[in-house]
Amino acid sequence: MNPDQLLSPPVNALPRLRSAVSGLPPYVPGRRGAGVDIAALASNESHYSPLPAAAAAVTDAARTMNRYPDMGAVDLRDRIARHLGVTPAEIAVGPGSVGVLQQIITGLCDAGDEVIFAWRSFEAYPILTELAGAKAVRVPLDAEEGHDLASMAAAVTERTRVILLCTPNNPTGVPIRHELIDAFLSRVPSNVLVVIDEAYIEYAEAGSGPDSLALYRKYPNVSILRTFSKAYGLAGLRVGYAVAAPDIADGLRRTAIPFSVSALAQRAAIVSLDAAEELEARVSGVKEERDRISTQLDAMGWELRPSQGNFIWIRADNELLATLTDAFTSAGILVRAYAGDGIRITVANPSSSDRVLRVLTRFAPGELRRSAE
Ligand SMILES: *Cc1c(COP(=O)(O)O)cnc(C)c1O
Repeated sequence: MNPDQLLSPPVNALPRLRSAVSGLPPYVPGRRGAGVDIAALASNESHYSPLPAAAAAVTDAARTMNRYPDMGAVDLRDRIARHLGVTPAEIAVGPGSVGVLQQIITGLCDAGDEVIFAWRSFEAYPILTELAGAKAVRVPLDAEEGHDLASMAAAVTERTRVILLCTPNNPTGVPIRHELIDAFLSRVPSNVLVVIDEAYIEYAEAGSGPDSLALYRKYPNVSILRTFSKAYGLAGLRVGYAVAAPDIADGLRRTAIPFSVSALAQRAAIVSLDAAEELEARVSGVKEERDRISTQLDAMGWELRPSQGNFIWIRADNELLATLTDAFTSAGILVRAYAGDGIRITVANPSSSDRVLRVLTRFAPGELRRSAE
């Protein structure tokens, strides 16, 4: 046998993507909220301009962007550790918490290992899992749009490496109660990493969700995932972090793409943690708006679950989904539609809420019933 022949590819063959990659959903260019009267309510971003201190830190850091950033993100990890009352050895940062989650999944999963998460939940979960060659195990949400922890515990197998809990859940806004996660963790094998994704924690009412740090201290197989993209308003800078047992955090730092968190992002995140009061005022503004919209929608007959995030969730079949999506599009409002499940609308300033309310008034369940008669 001629070894050259073994290496010769079929005629005209092109490089082939892994099946895990060709199976990923294609990138759909987002409609940009560029026009003056477009309300960009599809991505759960903060509608506030960057904090003045963050903008200044970025401008200052930009002067040295010919240099690589601190790969160890030492100052930022120190500041986060102080914020939470843990040690820097327990912190790993990454380019957004999605970046950190990728470090977690690739750091813990071999091909064929299993990652369990609720569905519907954050869209990045199946993508990162499948990209790592691991198997996504989706456990349907319960009737209250929350995590069905009993079924999630029952889904654990020998191959389970990671369980993702999203609280409050994106896109339904439903938190997971502390006692429920505590009971869940007491059943999950200690070699399975349970990640508590708290991307929206700042918007949640105290006590509605878990005291994740207490759970982390009680169960060393817990990791907490947080981001500067949502309440902190740094979505475009890409920085998030995980709290994890020192060995795990060390592993996450090693799986990171070198220098993936820019100096601009590191500095902006530090000054954002220093601006707690300003931040709190912004968060309160969004929570007030969320409560105002929710009360009005409730009065119109929309039966929504109370949301603990900066968004509201409308469960809708595909017919209602198409109707609402068209109406929002015509009104210049960008929202996030999930085929077969519903629509998620980011809560922003009062004027955008009023526009959302105007659309939803037209299709309020009472109205629909009347127009069908
Ligand atoms: C937005 C979001 C994130 C954060 O994404 P970043 O990569 O930090 O911008 C993480 N988890 C959930 C559930 C989210 O909705």
